[in-house]
Amino acid sequence: MHSGYPGSWYQASAQETARPALRSDIVADVCIVGGGFTGLSAACTLAEAGLSVVLLEAKAIGWGASGRNGGQLIRGFVGQEKFAKYTGIDGREAVKALTWAGHDLIRRRIDEYGFDCDLTPGWLEVAHTPRQLAALYHHYNEMETSFPDRGWLFMGANELESAIGTSRYVGGLLSMSDGHLHPLKLCLGLARGAEGLGAKVFEQSKVLDIIPEQHKVRVETEHGCVEAQHVVMAANVHHHLQVGKLQGSASAAGSYLIATEPLRQEQLQALNPNRWAICDSRKVCDYFRMSADGRVLFGGRVNYSGRKPRSIEDKLLPRLLKVWPELEGVRVEYAWGGRLGVPYGEVPLVGRVGENVWYGGGYTGHGVNMGNIVGDMIGKAIIGEGAVFDLFNKMPKRRVPFGHFSCGRWLGQQAVSLAILYYWIKDRL
Ligand SMILES: Cc1cc2nc3c(=O)[nH]c(=O)nc-3n(C[C@H](O)[C@H](O)[C@H](O)COP(=O)(O)OP(=O)(O)OC[C@H]3O[C@@H](n4cnc5c(N)ncnc54)[C@H](O)[C@@H]3O)c2cc1C
Repeated sequence: MHSGYPGSWYQASAQETARPALRSDIVADVCIVGGGFTGLSAACTLAEAGLSVVLLEAKAIGWGASGRNGGQLIRGFVGQEKFAKYTGIDGREAVKALTWAGHDLIRRRIDEYGFDCDLTPGWLEVAHTPRQLAALYHHYNEMETSFPDRGWLFMGANELESAIGTSRYVGGLLSMSDGHLHPLKLCLGLARGAEGLGAKVFEQSKVLDIIPEQHKVRVETEHGCVEAQHVVMAANVHHHLQVGKLQGSASAAGSYLIATEPLRQEQLQALNPNRWAICDSRKVCDYFRMSADGRVLFGGRVNYSGRKPRSIEDKLLPRLLKVWPELEGVRVEYAWGGRLGVPYGEVPLVGRVGENVWYGGGYTGHGVNMGNIVGDMIGKAIIGEGAVFDLFNKMPKRRVPFGHFSCGRWLGQQAVSLAILYYWIKDRL
């Protein structure tokens, strides 16, 4: 078991395989930096197309947000209205086509590569206030019109209470085409799938520099280097590479989770018999679901400073008990957190630096779906099918001044903290 993981329930319940570090110089068509959803999905797409692929991960597969998140598989992406407005008719069509593309891709790869990641249908968005419920009803009508066969159910307070055993919400919208999964198992399944197609995956191989040369790129780690035609930067907010080109366009927000002890069968039956994932419709939301072994996994943002809280359990357990007070006394067995990329321009950061450095990241809280989509999109663009990639590439990337210096990063973090605080207050009005 890798020491570098954050001690999550995911780590405790997944079968990891340790991989070697890169210790020689090798050549590949494409070198991918980062073993989260973006990097792994790109590796799969490129390996499926027959290209030689090397993936370099600084720690372990799924070490970043992809192996720690809430596992909620949610349609669409953050910033899609802005994206569609900027890119016009092509953008609107792309938004529609992308809405379920990540779900379809994940399902196809689970089937074709033959792995399991506890994929469970049903995602319920719940409203705290009549105003939020009215917005949800408007959204429901839009979704029913655009995607009538996706299994929608709009519920009032009473219906919701009998479905999920709480009177905390005034109503909700269920989508049976969304759902939830075990994100670390998904990462590991994708890594094994890519390896099965010939990709080479190295762990404990932090990329230290990327040096563009004529028609190729040198990607350097401590003990070896990859010479490739293309490099894909899929390192989320954890990296400090490409200084001056990518930095300063996203900030890192912290999000945290707890996992309780497994509940008794009768508790599961009373609280969430259908095992739907649940998320409230506030911008700064709580999200929760039952794990395959019957625990409550409850997550949310816990502060506005970006600093790690002293006790994740003290912050999140009271919020869980507001939803299901009958769980008073339940033991919390795991608590962990991670950082998600929040782009200053809202729309995911997808683009290209020069001829052969490609990048993707910054999905806010929608990266299960979108990370898989963007990795695939970049892979396709590299093999010459780049129409949707080009739309993202041409989106202006808003950056904080001096974003490549620590003062600029501090400024960006403060801006995100203030924005989160603003939404927290607005959610409660
Ligand atoms: C606590 C939490 C809960 C979330 N909940 C949800 C949810 O329920 N649903 C949802 O859709 N989204 C959720 N998200 C967001 C989602 O997890 C992310 O958007 C997504 O996983 C990002 O994927 P990624 O591949 O871009 O980055 P990551 O998964 O962060 O992967 C980047 C990888 O790059 C590696 N790396 C960094 N620097 C280097 C380097 N120099 N060399 C080599 N490797 C490097 C890192 O080690 C890391 O493994 C959540 C995020 C968090 C943190």
